[in-house]
Amino acid sequence: MSNFQGKRVVVLGGAGFLGSHLCERLLRDGAEEVVSLDNFLTGTPRNVAELSLLGSFMSVRHDITEPIRIGGPVHYVFNMTSPASPSDYAQLPIETLRVGSIGTENGLRLAREKGAVFLQASTSEIHGDPLMPPQQEGSWGNVNPIGPRSVCDEARRYGETLVMAYHRVHGVRTRMARIFNTYGPRMRLDDERVVPVFVGQALQGEDFTVFGDGSQKRSFCYVSDLIDGLVRLALSNVTLPVNIGNPRELTIFEFAEAVRTTAGGGGRILFQPLPKDEPKQRPPDITRARMLLDWEPRVSLEQGLAETLAWFRKALGARASGAHVEFTESAAL
Ligand code: UDP
Repeated sequence: MSNFQGKRVVVLGGAGFLGSHLCERLLRDGAEEVVSLDNFLTGTPRNVAELSLLGSFMSVRHDITEPIRIGGPVHYVFNMTSPASPSDYAQLPIETLRVGSIGTENGLRLAREKGAVFLQASTSEIHGDPLMPPQQEGSWGNVNPIGPRSVCDEARRYGETLVMAYHRVHGVRTRMARIFNTYGPRMRLDDERVVPVFVGQALQGEDFTVFGDGSQKRSFCYVSDLIDGLVRLALSNVTLPVNIGNPRELTIFEFAEAVRTTAGGGGRILFQPLPKDEPKQRPPDITRARMLLDWEPRVSLEQGLAETLAWFRKALGARASGAHVEFTESAAL
């Protein structure tokens, strides 16, 4: 497979959890320049503060619901934007809808103008509460259009429709990943998704807050595996959506036990009410990724959790220090 040598890449949402790992990987793969556009609503300049040590990297504060103007060639546009944690999109419902719709279209316009490949980081959420797990790319979903999760689900569904329209009407070379639960370093301590919550609780000796009876299931993909899947997809010719996730399923109760074992301690299990409209399970079917991208996850849950715990231990220690970080304002581009 070829790599990103000599390519100029724009990453929308490059200062977020996944976006920052992607920027890092692109620079390590020899990209000529990586430009991150991010409004820092849920991302942070800290995530990309050291990336210029790896190559030519620019971090720009820009809200992609405003038009995107970039001089010179662009070979790839990755759309990694959107609040992704259920608590973030509950607090930012309009922003979530706008970035998934207007923001995605602005990204597609940039790709069209530059003749670039456009990769949409879509989500397993487009299926809502799936009727027939494991989730195959061909199923159409089971979404409550007015429920608390709908701002994410519907915006991302619309995003997929836009991507296909730009592909069909304007011939943009589009790629579409459906991302399942992913975890690793640089998740926000306070984003309220289950991994940072349980890891934070384990490290601080608090009780684990398990929602419902803990029998709902999730499958967790380590971030380096996920990024590898995205990179393979971007470099392929595959226009169909492709699930990228780890098919190994655990109940949330089992997951709390796994975090406790890896952390070497932690509190008791504290049961709390289950939030509304939560998917009960959603393992990915990754047959398509295996066949078309020769991709499957390689990092075990035990390895991934150990890496994540080590990073969070450091982050908790450093939280008070508040380092100064540089970025460019979009007006200066
Ligand atoms: N969860 C939990 N306790 C928490 C946070 C989440 O038991 O403090 C459960 C939640 O009920 C869900 C799973 O963990 O079944 C994953 O939740 P998350 O918010 O990480 O993302 P989701 O997969 O629901 O989008």
